[in-house]
Amino acid sequence: MSRRIVLATGNPGKARELGALLAGLDMEIVPQSDFDVPEAEETGLTFVENAIIKARNATARTGLPAIADDSGLEVDALKGAPGIYSSRFAGPGASDRDNVDKLLAELKGVADAERTARFQCLLVFMKHDKDPTPLICQGTWEGHILHAPRGEGGFGYDPVFYVPSHGCAAAELAPEVKNRLSHRGQALRQLVEQLKNFGK
Ligand code: IMP
Repeated sequence: MSRRIVLATGNPGKARELGALLAGLDMEIVPQSDFDVPEAEETGLTFVENAIIKARNATARTGLPAIADDSGLEVDALKGAPGIYSSRFAGPGASDRDNVDKLLAELKGVADAERTARFQCLLVFMKHDKDPTPLICQGTWEGHILHAPRGEGGFGYDPVFYVPSHGCAAAELAPEVKNRLSHRGQALRQLVEQLKNFGK
């Protein structure tokens, strides 16, 4: 019988990507929405703190082991912003488009060479809500910020994140290509390796 793990995200774009990457494991990944888990307030000041807060909330409310991620975009010219505030950069309830518009406005006049940026993803696995040693995995994806959006795929800042190795925006990559390259794909492959031994 496969083991059940709750996935602590309410973001459908992330749930889709994580679900695809976890499909190979002998584990049933159940989104926290199936249990009506209310979203935890992200009060941490780092990605890893927020991932732990989300995982602890999901495992405490379901009694199942939980996986949570926290991710975002670090832009060098903005001293690492939007960082942990990536999803709410343009304010509470901001749409992806609002956030992208704000980013482009803040980078107006910044030359190509200064537009370096990276996506970060912290993934945490907690066995239970008092787990003192959560598994922690980190993935980083380097690129730079375009001057205007390109492509229709992905979510969030993908239309303005230029991927040098492929010469296009992240939103122009096929989903499987993005999963192979991305911060989330990298972190998740590390976690999958570590989870192979879980419960044995
Ligand atoms: P979180 O839900 O608190 O982890 O916020 C993550 C935010 O970072 C998302 O809402 C996006 O704005 C941004 N982000 C994270 N990963 C990606 C990605 O793969 N592509 C584009 N934007 C991303």
